[in-house]
Amino acid sequence: MSATIIDGRAAAAVVRHEVAEGVARFLAAHGRPPGLVGIQVGDDPASEIYQANKARQADECGMFSRRITLPGDTSQAELDQVIDELNDARDVDGMLVQLPVPDQLSEPLIAARIHPDKDVDGFGPGNMGRLMRGEPGNVPCTPAGVMRLLDDAGVPLEGANAVVVGRSLIVGKPQAMLLLERNCTVTIAHSRTRDLPGLCRTADVLVAAVGRPEMIRGDWIKPGAALIDVGINRTDDGLRGDIHFGEASNVAGWITPVPGGVGPMTIAFLLANTLLAARRRVGDE
Ligand code: NDP
Repeated sequence: MSATIIDGRAAAAVVRHEVAEGVARFLAAHGRPPGLVGIQVGDDPASEIYQANKARQADECGMFSRRITLPGDTSQAELDQVIDELNDARDVDGMLVQLPVPDQLSEPLIAARIHPDKDVDGFGPGNMGRLMRGEPGNVPCTPAGVMRLLDDAGVPLEGANAVVVGRSLIVGKPQAMLLLERNCTVTIAHSRTRDLPGLCRTADVLVAAVGRPEMIRGDWIKPGAALIDVGINRTDDGLRGDIHFGEASNVAGWITPVPGGVGPMTIAFLLANTLLAARRRVGDE
């Protein structure tokens, strides 16, 4: 193996430690901790685990966290009312609605209803617009975590060819904007891209966010490239990323494992976003 393995668990622990220090300072200055509220509609078991993890990690950082679980048949109007109350609540700095939501609810309406300053997932039109415009805002947590991993590893970004495979709203698109902001030359690939292996071979930085186990093979990789694997795929052999780790790690310069790469950074950056949102609300940034 030639690649340096980027340890996302260790990096996330550092971010959480930084957040905990910031929370303590915020509490001392303002007499209350930053507050994060997670809303879940229905009882999807995976959502339940995500929500519990977010709340536990927020508590461990000293934040005030609250979980709201609404019945699976909650209407859009009922959910809007809950969001409006949280938009107005003084002690709530960040909120999120756990996705996916039941069919009677509209994700775009939810994203637009949450006040942009409290939208700590960064999925709403306000924060997406800010990201596009290069203005301060809440940046989606997974792509923000990827940028921190690249920076901590010392991967050169200025002028690098970056290929992002996947164009989702929560990963691929914001990831591409963040890499562009750092002066990479960015290509976004997707299911209709022609000659994906050939395109990947041009990448100095390759971010895979597809959801297909081990799709990206070793002979798709430019020697020395930085490989960031966002994919989380449950297979009979356990969790796998979108990149074939065994093959790619022989060719790459850096690689994130799955599990233990990007995954832990996502919640860590949710907490970092909540702290930042709290500071902005009190004009303390
Ligand atoms: P989506 O399903 O929303 O998007 C997948 C993207 O991959 C789409 O743009 C799709 O293209 C593209 N794609 C699908 N098949 C191919 C193919 N054969 N060749 C090229 N592109 C293809 O997924 P998400 O972005 O939400 O998630 C991607 C992966 O990342 C999943 O495994 C998910 O579990 C994981 N994830 C991990 C997180 C973490 O914290 N580590 C957070 C979020 C997601 P098209 O648009 O043309 O359909």
